Amino acid sequence: MKHYCPYCNSEQEYDIDKRIFKEYKGVVVNVEENVPICKKCKNELIIHSIEDENLKRIYNKYREMKNMITPSEIKDLRDKYDISQRELTAILDFGKMTINRYENGSLPSKTHSDYLRFISKDEDAFFKKVQEAYYTHRINQKTFSKIENIMNKKSVHHNNYELKLYIENELKTSPNIFNGFKVLDLEKLQNLISYIASKTKLYLTSMNKYLWFIDMISYHERAISITGLTYVHEQYGPVIINRKYEEISKLDDKYKREDTEKSDGSMQSIITSNGNYDLSFFNNKEIEIVDYVIGLLENKSVKEISNMSHKELGWKNTERFEKISFEYANNLKILK
Ligand SMILES: [Zn+2]
Repeated sequence: MKHYCPYCNSEQEYDIDKRIFKEYKGVVVNVEENVPICKKCKNELIIHSIEDENLKRIYNKYREMKNMITPSEIKDLRDKYDISQRELTAILDFGKMTINRYENGSLPSKTHSDYLRFISKDEDAFFKKVQEAYYTHRINQKTFSKIENIMNKKSVHHNNYELKLYIENELKTSPNIFNGFKVLDLEKLQNLISYIASKTKLYLTSMNKYLWFIDMISYHERAISITGLTYVHEQYGPVIINRKYEEISKLDDKYKREDTEKSDGSMQSIITSNGNYDLSFFNNKEIEIVDYVIGLLENKSVKEISNMSHKELGWKNTERFEKISFEYANNLKILK
């Protein structure tokens, strides 16, 4: 192979010497470097393609030593959600072309690397970022819906057992102001949903509000919620955090979820009770609260129930996707 040699001032054959590159940014890398040497004058040549290859090997080793995210891991993350480099950059609010550079081998900053790692492992954190990107107009509706659909498809579990473990793993938190100082009791929750659905035509969207009102009133009366669920502010009212009502509604030993298409093409989900709910999970006071909420909401439309939740301070004083504190239970409009 030949390359221009500035010392000989002509095209010359060259050899490749091996040399060890010891340290990069304070990290011992010990990477073998290829060094082109002019055969005639024995001087070292600078050949960009070879330099680039050397640098890539150094970066790879440095990434490995510092446990930083790799270009292929970033690509995997994009493939998983079917998004472009540009879309991922916008979702994460990184500078233009950042993802493009990282995928082409540039070294990410430690902060970016750690964040990419985290987001590629934690689907809920990623989807939260996607929601934020959508509502701050960094991504459009099309991108948002595409990712949302993929998220929905991913939440398909094989059986109730697996699904229950998943839900508990996702939603169980130690007692705090956002779960009404109660650890999620999934069995109790399933029985509660089954009971409500046996009393009224229960839409999935309204199920969220039924549960929220029940938990809020329970907290108001007893300083503890009934289900232990955490709720966030969504457009149509409070909903179970991280859209886990999707999975909860698919548990089918106490109730069934049925999805039907409305005339306008939108989907509507109804929960019907299997009739096998067990009220021994509840004490008298709890039953009283549940029946009270059912009595208030059973003859109201989905829209009316949504409007009722919009009057509550817990919804009014929170931002989209923000957790709703049970402190708001002290002042409930539904009780007035
Ligand atoms: Zn030379």
